[in-house]
Amino acid sequence: MPKSVWDMDMNDFMGKSKTSKRTAVSTSIKNEVLKKQNYKCYKCKKPLPAVKHFHHKRAVAKGGKSTLGNLMALCPNCHSEIHHKEKLKKANAKARGKSKSKNPYEIDFKMPKFKL
Ligand SMILES: [Zn+2]
Ligand SMILES: [Zn+2]
Repeated sequence: MPKSVWDMDMNDFMGKSKTSKRTAVSTSIKNEVLKKQNYKCYKCKKPLPAVKHFHHKRAVAKGGKSTLGNLMALCPNCHSEIHHKEKLKKANAKARGKSKSKNPYEIDFKMPKFKL
């Protein structure tokens, strides 16, 4: 059994799935975002350090695009803070959903029977 054939197929498959999902932010868009924010962090308004982070307001996974309107330049600190808060929000929403045992639409299912 020639092992190389399998390797080739696997690589081809992996390569395809990778290229279709990857959406790199172009340098020109990054520069436009930086100019719009006067090279300051979107959150703390401090001058951006050498290492700049670009955050998608609407996550790429949720259909967000790498456009000027959907991007914000952040310092690494603020960027990690944003993602930390998002995680907390999600955790809180989950906890709330669990504790809420009563179905708000329950009443709709208890409609009186029609008397004809
Ligand atoms: Zn910042
Ligand atoms: Zn981000």
